[in-house]
Amino acid sequence: SVTSVQEALSGRIAAGSRVTVRGWVRTRRDSKAGLSFVNVSDGSGFHPIQVVAPAALDNYETEVKRLTAGCAVVATGTLAPSQGQGQAFEIQAESVEVVGWVEDPETYPIQPKPHSLEFLREVAHLRPRTNLFGAVTRIRHCLAQAVHRFFHEQGFYWISTPIITTSDAEGAGQMFRVSTLDLANLPRGEGGGIDFSRDFFGKETFLTVSGQLNAEAYALALSKVYTFGPTFRAENSNTTRHLAEFWMIEPEVAFNDLAANAKLAEDFLKYLFRAVLEERQDDLAFIAERVEKNAITRLEEFIAAPFEQIDYTDAIGLLQKSGHRFEFPVEWGLDLQTEHERWLTEQHVGRPVVVTNYPEQIKAFYMRLNDDGKTVAAMDVLAPGIGEIIGGSQREERLDMLDARMAQFGLDPEHYGWYRDFRRYGTVPHAGFGLGFERLVVYVCGLNNIRDAIAYPRTPGHATF
Ligand code: ATP
Ligand code: MG
Ligand code: MG
Ligand code: MG
Repeated sequence: SVTSVQEALSGRIAAGSRVTVRGWVRTRRDSKAGLSFVNVSDGSGFHPIQVVAPAALDNYETEVKRLTAGCAVVATGTLAPSQGQGQAFEIQAESVEVVGWVEDPETYPIQPKPHSLEFLREVAHLRPRTNLFGAVTRIRHCLAQAVHRFFHEQGFYWISTPIITTSDAEGAGQMFRVSTLDLANLPRGEGGGIDFSRDFFGKETFLTVSGQLNAEAYALALSKVYTFGPTFRAENSNTTRHLAEFWMIEPEVAFNDLAANAKLAEDFLKYLFRAVLEERQDDLAFIAERVEKNAITRLEEFIAAPFEQIDYTDAIGLLQKSGHRFEFPVEWGLDLQTEHERWLTEQHVGRPVVVTNYPEQIKAFYMRLNDDGKTVAAMDVLAPGIGEIIGGSQREERLDMLDARMAQFGLDPEHYGWYRDFRRYGTVPHAGFGLGFERLVVYVCGLNNIRDAIAYPRTPGHATF
């Protein structure tokens, strides 16, 4: 019967069983004894399976001996204990059917040798066939499953919030505008269009930068909720940690304050890392060999250490006293840049840090003003090697204070009437945070560039494939 390669190698199928696997050739080696060893991968796990094809096969000379990397095959035979290194089982084939040839093996971009990540970005659509990209994709899946499991176990409900919106939740002006093309009325052969977006929605609309404002409504009814969906930001520079389109996980909890929010973030991240350590050992081992030699220990250390908590004001003091020459200025009232974040977590503390209570003028309007009148109940979780991975806050639940903040940011209270309503009808303290999913994948896989965390990264100038 048809089985995945992973299942065939797992030991759960008795030796001597007749099995069929389907996948893509990684390598072929012919022995002098008139046999070929064809390694076949279907991506179900890290390891390919070795298919031993005897010369007696009908198509041995005509097809099997012409197999090259990338060819698609269906192999049927007997599952047998393997003599070969690093694999418990192999398939002694009675048939190897070729389903798809590689047109031009010389120029097939994905050869068995390791390729540079830069090269692979140029053939992004074929990257899923590489060992590294397979490992990253399986770890990404493991993380996504663990996200849902964690929240489910904690009594959260998964919600979806609109992708098309009229509000700039973060106030950073990084919105992509949504427009409709009236295709029926376009003159033939012309690419230009008329913007009907105002006509359709009655207002100018954008792709959402965060689901938080909408998620708050759910939290103030269902108590604990989270979003896990796409968000969009017109990041105007090329960095290794920003995408124009990324997935964000945003829990929102009623009756929580900043301390409870920070605890949730810590428990959450540790739960996710534990899941990867338990479930994706082969993939992590490969990443340790190829990308980041401490791939496993750094996750273990992350789990073992309690997060450090530092007040923003103290963080500024530490950075100023560090004696380190930073590119960007360090001054109370300015936001921390990646280099500052990395110094704090790597040089100063040596483990994850939660920085709290940022100056109110550099954080979004919805964050709760502290009693000092100068700072808000914000928190950023910083991790060694990457800097900010989570941004969160306690939300401003007092209507008069919210109105004052909105006025200060020049936001129209009419436009946010719906958002003000939560403060008018049974308001309670509440808090939440946002975690960028691809940034998490970058961190867990020890990658250096967010363009390698997803097959089709969207960055300035790149949206074709
Ligand atoms: P940064 O300082 O890195 O630009 P931010 O403070 O603008 O991040 P938030 O608005 O706090 O980001 O969003 C919450 C989280 O979403 C961030 O901590 C990060 O994990 C992720 N994130 C934000 N922008 C991006 C992006 N362009 N691409 C990928 N992830 C992102
Ligand atoms: Mg940003
Ligand atoms: Mg930030
Ligand atoms: Mg942030």
